[in-house]
Amino acid sequence: MIAMVDCNSFYVSCEQLFRPDLKGRAVVVLSNNDGCIIAKNKEAKALTHIPYGEPFFKIKKLLASNEVTLFSSNYTLYGNLSDRVMNVLRTFSPDVEVYSIDESFVNLKGMEYLDLQEYGEQIKNKVVRHTGIPVGVGIAPTKVLAKLANRISKKIPHHHHVFVMDTEQKRIDSLKWAVTKDIWGLGKKHVARLAAVGAFTAYDFTQLPLAWVRKEMTVVGERLWRELKGESCMTFNTLPRNKKAIGTAKSFGKKLSDLATIEEACAYYISEVSEVLRAQKCCCTYLQVYLTTNYHSAYDTQYRNSKTITLDVATNDTFSLIKQGKRALQLIYKKGYRYKKVGVNLLGLIPENHIQGNLFKETDHLDPRLIKTFDAINNRYGKSTVSSGLSGTKKSNKQWELIKEERSPRYTTQWSELLEIGK
Ligand SMILES: [Mg+2]
Repeated sequence: MIAMVDCNSFYVSCEQLFRPDLKGRAVVVLSNNDGCIIAKNKEAKALTHIPYGEPFFKIKKLLASNEVTLFSSNYTLYGNLSDRVMNVLRTFSPDVEVYSIDESFVNLKGMEYLDLQEYGEQIKNKVVRHTGIPVGVGIAPTKVLAKLANRISKKIPHHHHVFVMDTEQKRIDSLKWAVTKDIWGLGKKHVARLAAVGAFTAYDFTQLPLAWVRKEMTVVGERLWRELKGESCMTFNTLPRNKKAIGTAKSFGKKLSDLATIEEACAYYISEVSEVLRAQKCCCTYLQVYLTTNYHSAYDTQYRNSKTITLDVATNDTFSLIKQGKRALQLIYKKGYRYKKVGVNLLGLIPENHIQGNLFKETDHLDPRLIKTFDAINNRYGKSTVSSGLSGTKKSNKQWELIKEERSPRYTTQWSELLEIGK
């Protein structure tokens, strides 16, 4: 059996954890640059006239008149609380697959002799007791069924966020309850194709002949079909997958024209991604930098360009990469445009112990021990405690940093932002 554990309204739950005064009130979280709503709690979902995805400035008044509390996204906080939730889950099984920031599959293979209803309740209670984050638990024989069980645990109130699909009858009832668009991994096109042949529930889908499913929906559809019938086809990925490329691109808080400021943002992003690269013990062979204006703006003249640099020797040295990034940026930057975004990608990743040297060129890479110390300091004392001068200072970063007007404190990762009580 497999448990799918999913945090309830995760981003909002993280925010409310440190703001008990908001209990029972409508709360929403905004996307980067305060663009639009990306998360709502139960109370905010009940205000059905407030749409997701609508630009924030258009609904600002509507939110205020409905007394909705809003937060800018605080990924430092969400990431840290997510790690805590996952660590609690690891006390229930050695196999935990972290599927996303707020969802995990927990392998319960070999634990079928336990009372799984009780085990599910233990999971739910321990997570909330140790982290303050409420979760729903769905337990079923396959991943796709576990995902459905999780949905049922939350949508049907009398299950109180724990549902175990442990009999054939429960499986069939669940499939009849679920409409096709509730099936995990089934895209819109397939939902439409199924509707065209009269299949509206997950149960209808499983009653179609395999030959038809294979022909019309390829191997992906076949896998879902089998999983829904209780035949496990998806493996457990408990190891974090190493990325093949690492990149970041964020819109500036405001449009920028000046090369020096854009260089600073670029250097900052490079230091971020090279840290990720070192954490997965890899080096990159190519560095790509791209720059773009706002293509949605009607009155700006548009320009975008990118440059990929082949490194003489693969590296994960922040300082060397920043130098190359600066070179790339100077090659594509043109004066007179209002830029919206700079992005960097590290490509051609190889394990750091498989580096091919270069006979003809000397590298400018720093002593790896220095970089290790650099990472150790930042891990211990917080991000950017030591950084390259080229990536700017806290004060100068204000020019290009994301707009996060309503960001909550990073309660769990910054000493200076700890929750204060009894002031
Ligand atoms: Mg969730």
